[in-house]
Amino acid sequence: MQVYNTLTKKKETFVPLEEGKVRMYVCGPTVYNFIHIGNARPMIVFDTVRRYMEYKGYEVNYVSNFTDVDDKIIKKALEEGVSSQEISQRYIEECKKDMSMMNVKPATTHPLATQEIGGMLDMIQTLIEKGYAYEVNGTVYFRTRKFAPYGKLSHKNLDDLRGGERVLLVSGEDEKEDPLDFVLWKPKKEGEPYWESSWSQGRPGWHIECSVMSKKYLGEQIDIHAGGEDLVFPHHENEIAQSEACNGKEFARYWLHNAFLNIDNKKMSKSLGNFFTVREISEKYDLQVLRFFMLSAHYRSPLNFSAQLMEASKNGLERLVTTADNLTYRKEQGADGPMTEEEEKLFAATKAYVEKFEEAMDDDFNTADAIAAMFELVKYLNTNVNEGCTKVFAEKCQERLVKLGDILGLILVKEKELLDEDVEHLIAERQAARKAKDFARADEIRAQLLDQGIVLEDTREGVKWKRA
Ligand code: AMP
Ligand code: ZN
Repeated sequence: MQVYNTLTKKKETFVPLEEGKVRMYVCGPTVYNFIHIGNARPMIVFDTVRRYMEYKGYEVNYVSNFTDVDDKIIKKALEEGVSSQEISQRYIEECKKDMSMMNVKPATTHPLATQEIGGMLDMIQTLIEKGYAYEVNGTVYFRTRKFAPYGKLSHKNLDDLRGGERVLLVSGEDEKEDPLDFVLWKPKKEGEPYWESSWSQGRPGWHIECSVMSKKYLGEQIDIHAGGEDLVFPHHENEIAQSEACNGKEFARYWLHNAFLNIDNKKMSKSLGNFFTVREISEKYDLQVLRFFMLSAHYRSPLNFSAQLMEASKNGLERLVTTADNLTYRKEQGADGPMTEEEEKLFAATKAYVEKFEEAMDDDFNTADAIAAMFELVKYLNTNVNEGCTKVFAEKCQERLVKLGDILGLILVKEKELLDEDVEHLIAERQAARKAKDFARADEIRAQLLDQGIVLEDTREGVKWKRA
């Protein structure tokens, strides 16, 4: 498997630190509003990378954080007259709903910055002790020049960066030893959330959060660190400096960055106001269409959002779903018994399309070519799975197609919805399990229902349920 590494600016063969395992960290969103479809691009892209790695047999430990303490969250909380926590909790929940509608799998762990402050205090302390950080008036700064490889990810050298000096000085940070130094800890301002530390009552800088959460959940060295290309500098560069200075080891082996989702060839962003939220798009399209749209381009190519491309994606997805549906029909109508000799041959020939798909994905996750391979398979199946075929043949062909869809997170055959009476039946079974103190079974039923979008609420009047 070849992956493009921002660090070396080359495609490299993927070799994990530990055989059969992948440790992967993806920088998550700052939660002060609904996520926009630009934010959805890394979610969909790296979820697909994860799915492909899992398909290849790797056990993937996938960690993606929520940044739940930030100026923008505090601002929004002040505007609404509620706590920062209320804002971040609300938008984490909304983000999880969007992720589920886009068929983005929940991460193995979704750490919250505010729950990891202890680890941040420890890492900052270590950096001070090692001479990589210093405190001035309650603020702790990273001593950038002391970390010699600084700039290795963004391929900038420190002297180029001095160009930014003046801007930095204007921002009132002239207490820094060097304009290149960045904040690890800053004192609170009136009314802001804060934590106690030996330097000041304050809060962490953004970069230290990811270094700490990555270390806690994945260890000092990880295989893949990913995010949008705007994070290369300074965020990821600073993460490298902090983690490597603290741990004395290479932080991440492979750095993957998705290109922007643009609109009229400009980056979609909250600050420019040129964005659509995922929720808005969901009013018009099934979010599977958005997922298809994102994967129709290579993740390192800029992608321009347009109604026209969304319509094309809708049609493309429909072509795949229609073939899968036809195969369901053939399965139902098909003859019993084993595949005929002819069918055996026809089925064996489908392997070529799977290989084409894998070849595309092995080449730095070229989802555009992988989708093209799926279309070829669809064409082949439409021609070769005909009336009078056996059930098994139709079933195996469908499995093949659905499996490829699943790697891309595209659901081609929807599971039948649970009927109300099935839900009632499972709830009764859960109640019986609880009565018998079999809480494991009770939890299992709850989780099973949740998987199908059924949310239970235990009330004094008994169990209530609704479809999410
Ligand atoms: P933020 O909440 O701004 O920190 O962004 C969360 C993630 O979304 C980061 O990985 C960003 O790089 C990514 N991102 C933000 N805007 C876009 C965009 N227009 N296109 C692609 N990725 C984006
Ligand atoms: Zn990060």
